[in-house]
Amino acid sequence: MFKDLQLSHDILDAIEAMGYKDPTPVQEQSIPIILDGYDLMAFAQTGTGKTAAYLLPMVDILLDLEKTPFVKALIIAPTRELAAQIDQQLQGMAYFTPIDSLAVYGGGDGIDFSQEKKALENGAGIIIATPGRLMSHIKMGYVDLTKLEFFVLDEADKMLDMGFLPDILTIQKHLSGKQQNLMFSATMNPKIKSMAKTLLNNPKEVSIELAKPAEGVIQAAYLIHNSEKIRLIKHLLKDKTDQKMIIFAGSKITVDNIARSLNDLKIGVQAFHSGFEQKDREEIMLNFRSGKLKVLIATDIVSRGIDIDDIDLIINFDAPTDAEDYVHRVGRTARAQRSGLALSFINADEVHKFQKIEKLIDRVIHKIALPEGFPPGPEYKTGDFKRTFNKNKRHNHFNKDKSGNADSTQTPQK
Ligand code: AMP
Repeated sequence: MFKDLQLSHDILDAIEAMGYKDPTPVQEQSIPIILDGYDLMAFAQTGTGKTAAYLLPMVDILLDLEKTPFVKALIIAPTRELAAQIDQQLQGMAYFTPIDSLAVYGGGDGIDFSQEKKALENGAGIIIATPGRLMSHIKMGYVDLTKLEFFVLDEADKMLDMGFLPDILTIQKHLSGKQQNLMFSATMNPKIKSMAKTLLNNPKEVSIELAKPAEGVIQAAYLIHNSEKIRLIKHLLKDKTDQKMIIFAGSKITVDNIARSLNDLKIGVQAFHSGFEQKDREEIMLNFRSGKLKVLIATDIVSRGIDIDDIDLIINFDAPTDAEDYVHRVGRTARAQRSGLALSFINADEVHKFQKIEKLIDRVIHKIALPEGFPPGPEYKTGDFKRTFNKNKRHNHFNKDKSGNADSTQTPQK
């Protein structure tokens, strides 16, 4: 229960007002570590409640500090959408408290920039920023980060993938070094471990196992050649006009091409990727959230970090390069006990990638026959998969036995 976590009354009131009943595993494990003043490396993905896991204890500690005109906490996030979402949760939490926050994520107009500048100069309590935009302000010379109590890196793995490490290291040089550092990542790999070593001091570690796609998701795949993929989408969309869906594709160009090809359908479809202006991105997400827009065609910018929970159908137009992105994409449907369908298209070159996905989620996804009139698709050779699959199972077992470190807790996500 939240009240067992030593949080103050103001925070407990805010938690109640937000409708949270019990802490999630990442909250249960991270909150005491943060309240005790330790640095933290947490492996947890979006949807686990990781944002509140650091915001709640952080606001709690900041409330006890004397009010001074300095930036007290800096949260860095890879995308504007995530930064906006963190800010939203923070405003909910800080509603009962005098903590002020500011999201600094660019994409707006000049007025935004000067408002951000003013708030940075005046020392807004908590800053949530994307690395590029914050760097623009830092370069102007008026950002004082030497009084920081907290330095938080959210979705650190995504920031590494996006090439933000040099910016983050530059930002770190502006800190006093006395602050508490918290880092969150959906994936655990040697690069992230080395980033944590550079940025954190003797961190405690929390690890929430990657969630398998929810029970309610029906997962299936079509073996299909590239030239037939658009035709198959059109076929599938014919009788699904009132369903909310996301079609995921690996690149902006593919997203734009799919959107163009589907333009002649009666239902409205909308492309969504990082090439859009911030204003348009916000409007598209608003329309999709409200249901005004039913079909979103998107890159993985939407697969992580976006909290929309009533999606009926996910179509993976191509197999994601990173197997974990499959889990993120499919995790967009069947949230909160709903049912949903996730269909993946696999061409000959993607068979291997898809086998890696099956290995990660520990199940073989049913391959459905193509509808009548479609030429046969590529072959799916399962022999190789079974061999590596079994080998991997032994390997995982071995790893689990070895990792009994006192600061590391492995809890399956609910
Ligand atoms: P996150 O993993 O931080 O993106 O959070 C996912 C969603 O879970 C957000 O909509 C949060 O508001 C919500 N959430 C976070 N903590 C809890 C909790 N303890 N109980 C219920 N919902 C929560």
